[in-house]
Amino acid sequence: MDWTRGHTIGNGSTAVVSVAMSRSSGEIFAVKSTELSRSQFLKKEHKILSTLDSPYVVDYKGYDVTRENNKVLFNLKMEYMPDGTLTDEIRKQGGRLDEQLIGYYTKQIVQGLDYLHSKGIVHCDIKGCNILLGKTGAKIGDFGCARLVDQAKWNGGTPMYMAPEVARGEEQGFPADIWALGCTIIEMATGGSPWTNVNNPASLLYHIAFSSQTPEIPNILSSQARDFLTKCLIRNPKQRWSAKQLLNHPFLEESNLLYSKANQDFITNSPTSILDQGIWNSETNDDSTQEISPMDLTLQRVRKLYMQSRKPDWKLDESWITVRNCSEDLPTCQDNIFYCSSCSIQQRAIISTLNFITHKRDSPNKSIRS
Ligand code: ATP
Repeated sequence: MDWTRGHTIGNGSTAVVSVAMSRSSGEIFAVKSTELSRSQFLKKEHKILSTLDSPYVVDYKGYDVTRENNKVLFNLKMEYMPDGTLTDEIRKQGGRLDEQLIGYYTKQIVQGLDYLHSKGIVHCDIKGCNILLGKTGAKIGDFGCARLVDQAKWNGGTPMYMAPEVARGEEQGFPADIWALGCTIIEMATGGSPWTNVNNPASLLYHIAFSSQTPEIPNILSSQARDFLTKCLIRNPKQRWSAKQLLNHPFLEESNLLYSKANQDFITNSPTSILDQGIWNSETNDDSTQEISPMDLTLQRVRKLYMQSRKPDWKLDESWITVRNCSEDLPTCQDNIFYCSSCSIQQRAIISTLNFITHKRDSPNKSIRS
């Protein structure tokens, strides 16, 4: 079970995510780690992720406890998603995605949400930063805010993506994930936030909770995409469409047909093992006599950018350190250790407007958890 920790790929508010490699099989995976003594959020995430198995949710690969640099760490192991987050992708493509790509990713996110909701799980923090991209496209990640729908009423999330009923502190059920999906589609279409001109969490939450407004639907989208978005952003959660209903919306049916074939090449070329290294050197020269559709061109551009920007150095150099399993027993995963008892991380000061627990230094785009 020994593995080697590589470079850091993400720094979340509660944990550090690194690339890692199994010493026996050479398999590459991601590991999200935090000090055992402060690992209540990560254990909560572990508890949920370990029950999931879907092509649209990042794969769970186990956990362990290790001692590194005199610290005892709790490690959640996951499938490594080499293409970064959806937000990274939007940035790489110049600030917004074209509609077919939006449809393609949206369909996968909705399939992931349909799966989660069928298992009684609300993700509670859908946004571009928590959608991970890899060889099969998009998968839902970061289950740090997720919970079973019949558990505690209000769990957290990211103010900018919060549904009105969540902003009012009333409920955080499946429809809240659909609202956040709508906000994520706006992020894909514009590269920006669903709400403009509001920059502090408290006034933003007040606006979302008590105005009668919905985020502006980007007019660059087709009427079908706009209609889809409208169904996600219905203020009344009872009238908002479910993931299942959205899967039958023509926007997803059509975008999927248009996209799936052209995307085959792109989505099968990301390495998940050190043995795949050769793939990085294999720039394809497609048959130039074949007609290239606009979608193919987009994909080629994406792939090229992706090749240029994410070419990793898989050599075993000094940035890799060896991790040994710790002999200490992992505390059993009982409910009471999963809930944040105190927001004990010091910067997470509580301000209490509208019954929320939010945190002074957080921006409207950062998750908050209770
Ligand atoms: P947040 O502050 O957003 O709540 P967090 O502590 O919950 O963050 P994550 O969002 O899960 O942490 O991960 C932080 C970053 O690490 C992600 O934005 C992403 O860039 C990277 N990351 C996370 N999981 C993976 C993975 N499985 N494969 C590749 N990169 C990942």
